[in-house]
Formats: sequence, structure tokens, C-alpha cells
Amino acid sequence: MKKRVLITILIVVLLGLAIVAGLFIYAKFFENKDNDSKSEPTSSTDNSNDNNNNKEPEVKQPVNTSMLFTGDVLLSEYVLSNYNSKGIDGVVEGSLREDMVNADFAMVNEEFPFSNRGTKAPDKQYTFRVDPKYVSIFKELGIDAVGLANNHVLDFGKEALEDTFTTLNNAGILFTGSGNNLAEASKLVVCDKNGVKVGIVAASRVIPVVEWNVKNSQPGVFTAYDPTDLIGVVQKAKTECDLVYVMIHWGTEHTDKLEEYQKTIGHQLIDAGADGVIGAHPHVVQGIERYNGKPIFYSLGNYIFNQNIERTFALKIDYDNVNKTPNYSLIPAKAVGATTRKMSSEEASSLYSYLNSISTDVSIDEGGNVK
Ligand SMILES: [Zn+2]
Repeated sequence: MKKRVLITILIVVLLGLAIVAGLFIYAKFFENKDNDSKSEPTSSTDNSNDNNNNKEPEVKQPVNTSMLFTGDVLLSEYVLSNYNSKGIDGVVEGSLREDMVNADFAMVNEEFPFSNRGTKAPDKQYTFRVDPKYVSIFKELGIDAVGLANNHVLDFGKEALEDTFTTLNNAGILFTGSGNNLAEASKLVVCDKNGVKVGIVAASRVIPVVEWNVKNSQPGVFTAYDPTDLIGVVQKAKTECDLVYVMIHWGTEHTDKLEEYQKTIGHQLIDAGADGVIGAHPHVVQGIERYNGKPIFYSLGNYIFNQNIERTFALKIDYDNVNKTPNYSLIPAKAVGATTRKMSSEEASSLYSYLNSISTDVSIDEGGNVK
């Protein structure tokens, strides 16, 4: 009898404890649920993307978008021979190549067609054509886009230019300055990274014969002898992009003396809304001018070409999403034995003082910054 009472009491006590424990867990569970539903709206108004409710609201960090532009690129027999024997290191040396690859966007002037077809342009002293398989060099250099407005893209005629379009399209490399009609040839290349949209158009003020002009015969080159169309493209681009640059082929070869038309067109492009003008063709560097606060880099010189390049530079544009101003700096380079590499600091100093002596309203400091 006593034993049965004892067991009954024990069962009642255990049941009681189980109920209390159950209620406690139940209460805790709803307490958490409640917290969740309270904090959710707070986290979404904070614009916090994760589920950690205790995290502080994020402060917008500066994000830099870097763009790199170079002058004339020709994959000449010397360059290809280096590539075939030493790989990409024989074309552009390590640390300079890293700068190209690490930039968010890299663009060069492609001074040749990619093709194995076509007929050599008659009465032309130098004609260039490169086997399309060597587009691998552009990929290895991190080149995102090329300008095709120059005096060599039609060296082997329309078929070769069409092969160039196909080669670049297949490689995922954007282009501007040549096309199957005026609209295509004057189409912007757009770099849209980290919230900044940059539009670039290429045009040439040097073509050997009028038939190269896309308005006269297709496919062809977007030209700037009469800059009206180019100015129109810049004005329209300015309404669509945060920054607009013009890559232009112009000037006289082997001299730092500017043609009057370079200044006139350069100023007209800035007046139309361009944030900067990036020139090439003379094979040598020319001065920089700041006009209405915007830079005109008259000629960047040869970047990859024949055996030797005395001096050139890659133009680096850094734009951060906080200050919203583009900063310009030069990466000084030269080529020896058809390999392009960075200059030593002494060589760079001498390039900067030379550029300072031929530039207008611009000063380049020891770090290559354009002020
Ligand atoms: Zn040229």
C-alpha cells in the first residue's frame, strides 16, 4: 500500500516537471520568433543584405574603377617571334602586364587587321596583317576593347577587316572606330563597372584614301576630317554615360609638333562634353593640354610595335565612387627587342620632364600623376 502511494507521488512529480520544462521551452521559442519579426523591418531599412540582425549598418566604402589606355599596338614579326619563343613575357614584361590585367578595363589602338585573307592595299609603303590566332596575346594582356580607327585596319581590304570583327567578337573583345556602316563604326564601347558608366568612341583623322571612310564604302573607318559626326556622338554619349572619352588617330608622324587641327578638334570634343581625348598615330609621344579642366593627351606613342620604343606611357584613369572625379596618371614604358616594359625611375623622370616641357596647363609629378 505505502509503496503504491510513493510510486504515484513520484509519477505526479515527474509529470509536473515535464510540463514545467515543456512550457519553458515553448515560451523561449516564441520569444525568439517575436524578436525576429521585430528586427526584420529594421534590417531591411538599413539596406543590410545579410540576416545578422546585430550587425552595424554598412558605411559605403570608396570603390575605385581603374581604366588603362595605350597608344598604337602592332603585333609585328618581332613581337610574334618573341611570343612564339618566350610567351606573353616576351610581349609585355611582368609588372607592366599585371597593371593591364588588373585594371577594370584596358583598351589599345589596334593598328592592323586580324586576318589570313585579303589583298594588299596598292601604293602603300607599310601594310600590316596578323593571323587571328594571335588574338590570344590580347586576351593574355587583359585587353577588353580596341580602337579600330586608324590608317592600317584596311591594309588588306574589306575581307580582312570583316575577319577582324569576327576575331574580336569571338574573343569577347569590344571595338569601336570601324564597322559595317556608320552607326556600327561610331558605336560606343561601354565600360560599366562599380556603378560608373564610361563611353569611349574611336575616330581617325588619318586614312590613306577617301574610300576607307565608312560613309563612302563599307565596311570602313569612322573618320574625323569633318568632326561633325564625332561631335554628335560625344554629345549623345554625354547624356548616357558618366564619363566620355575619345580615342583619336591624328597628327604627324615622328614629331612632337602638333598640327593646328589637333588643337581645334581636341577643343571641339571637350566643348561637346568629352571628359578627355586620347590620341595616337605619330609613333612618338606628344604633349598634354588641359583645356577647360579636361585633358587632351595628344599622342601616347607606340606601345607595342617594332623592335624599340624610346618612350611611351599607358594612361591610367582612376575614378572613385565617392569623389566622383577621374584622376590621371602615367605608367612610363619603353620597348627593347620588341618587349615592352616599365621604365626605370631615372628614365621615368626624364620622360616626365620632357612631357612637362611640351605640355600646356598640366604638370606631371615624380609619381606620374597628371595635375
Ligand atoms: Zn597610325
